[in-house]
Amino acid sequence: MGLAPLWRLRGAEPVEEAQPEPSAPVPEPVVAAPVSAPAPASRPVPLARFVPPDAEPAEAPARRPAPVGDIAGLGWDDLEARIRECDACALCKRRKQAVPGVGDRQADWLFVGEGPGAEEDERGEPFVGQAGRLLDNMLASIGLARGNDVYIGNAVKCRPPNNRTPETDELAACFPYLERQIALIKPRLIVALGRPAAQALLNQEVRIAAARGKLFEFGGIPVVVTYHPAYLLRNLADKAKAWEDLCFARATMKRLKADAV
Ligand code: URA
Repeated sequence: MGLAPLWRLRGAEPVEEAQPEPSAPVPEPVVAAPVSAPAPASRPVPLARFVPPDAEPAEAPARRPAPVGDIAGLGWDDLEARIRECDACALCKRRKQAVPGVGDRQADWLFVGEGPGAEEDERGEPFVGQAGRLLDNMLASIGLARGNDVYIGNAVKCRPPNNRTPETDELAACFPYLERQIALIKPRLIVALGRPAAQALLNQEVRIAAARGKLFEFGGIPVVVTYHPAYLLRNLADKAKAWEDLCFARATMKRLKADAV
């Protein structure tokens, strides 16, 4: 009650910052046109009748890969085995291990990050480094916890050298794995953390600042977009915006569940 979340890193100095109250106004969901277009001033679309936008991804880069083998038919064990032995792009050469994802395989919530960093590469689990600790705190701020109705994955499953942003062809090569994970999990809502994840899922150029507060979709599943935790570690002022985005996601989930009954 009246307590703003403190997204402190465990073991780190507490960061004094004013966060909006949990009751802060939540932006209305809209079905988004391509992000270059202004947000339509329409009423929220009832999510039970959620329809994919037919807007063409105007500047769509060729991110969608050709289907790779039989990935679309794989179950969890075979999918994870395939990810671990994947050599579809150059990222396989320098990884210690691939990082398929972690969490509840029947989760309502799917959070998609960019790609493993050094600690994730070492441990084989996504978001276990500094950014991961912030993500855990972000989840906690809306009553969620890793593994409990939450699945966490990445747009690419292997660490890009020096934690650089994944290239378009790397995102494309890895996309069938994420696509299959989504098909298996069937989440109610996907939260894209940062630009590469958003672009991989939405198959279009995305600017997070423009895409925040809008409802996109992937395969009929609503997608919301927010800043990546690693970005937030460097840009503390934007944590308040991420908190708004989480409130938006939480409100969207509430409506999705209400519309489903
Ligand atoms: N950043 C990501 O995007 N994913 C991880 O797993 C860790 C850091």
